[in-house]
Order: sequence, then C-alpha cells, then structure tokens
Amino acid sequence: MSFPESLEALRLDVMARKARAEERQAYIDRIARECDMQLFIARVLQRLPDAWCDPDPGKYDVSYFFLDALCEKRIVVKEFLPKGVVAHTSLAEWQKYNAQHQYGVPFSEVPYWFKVVPLKDVFRARCSNCREEQPVIEEYLQTEDSPDGDTWRRRRFVPCLKCGTVTELAVKETSERVY
Ligand SMILES: [Zn+2]
Repeated sequence: MSFPESLEALRLDVMARKARAEERQAYIDRIARECDMQLFIARVLQRLPDAWCDPDPGKYDVSYFFLDALCEKRIVVKEFLPKGVVAHTSLAEWQKYNAQHQYGVPFSEVPYWFKVVPLKDVFRARCSNCREEQPVIEEYLQTEDSPDGDTWRRRRFVPCLKCGTVTELAVKETSERVY
C-alpha cells in the first residue's frame, strides 16, 4: 500500500489500522480464554481422582469432587479408584484405620463418608454452550482463615470435555465446614 497523499487518506488509514488491531486483539483474547479454560479443566481432571485422600479438603489447596445423583453429597467414582484400594463403609471399620493413620498425611483408604458409585450415577448438568450433559463438579476452598471466623467457598460448575466451556452453576460462601 502506498503512503497516503492527503490528510483525509491519512486519517482513514489510521482508523483502518486501529480497527484491524482491535479485531486481532479480540481474537487473541478469545484464544487466551480458551487456553485458560483448557488448563483449568485439565487441572480439575488431574485432581478429581485423589480428592478423597485429602484429610483436610480445601484447607491448604483447592479440592474437586463429583456429586451424588441428588447433587448433595460428594462421592468417589468407582472407575477412578485405583484397584485394591479399600473403601470403608462403616464407622467402626474406619476408626480402626484412622487410629493408625498419621495426622495430616493423605488417606490411603477411602473414608466411610464417601459412597463409591459408578460414573453413570454422578450428578450431571448441561453445558451452556453446546448443551452436552457432563458431570457437575464441586470446588471447595477456604477463602478466609481468621479468629473472627473462617469462610469456605463451594462452587459448582460443569466442565465441558466436548467444547471446553466451563458453565458456572452456583457459588456459596459459608462459615460452615463441609467434609
Ligand atoms: Zn460444551
């Protein structure tokens, strides 16, 4: 393109370049958002299978859980539990294990308060973008740790493995601890 030869042409050129830059920036922003979402979903998937091992979920690091069919209780998915791991079903049985368990160390056996259920029975909801049904995940994290009271954040969302969108369902801040 030759150099503009009038004030009018110069101004038009400036406008065209700015418009082009804005358009490219919008593209970069969209790709950056896509990357963030893919990395977030990857992190969630990486952590989901070990959520039950954490004796203090959400306290030192964020935890991610599958939910039961009623969208109430956190569960362990059978397919993602390593073979041979004991899953306790009674308090008495669990207490025997816990008496030997060293404080602060990850559990090596599944606590009795988690039900072990097949993947087909986890609570699901639709992705807001592509409408695909996917498991709902609960994120749990302590957001405030003070003598005046603690705050815990429960966030539920649908990570869509088909299109990479994360659909927010609910966020609840509470002083109540949930195990
Ligand atoms: Zn989707």
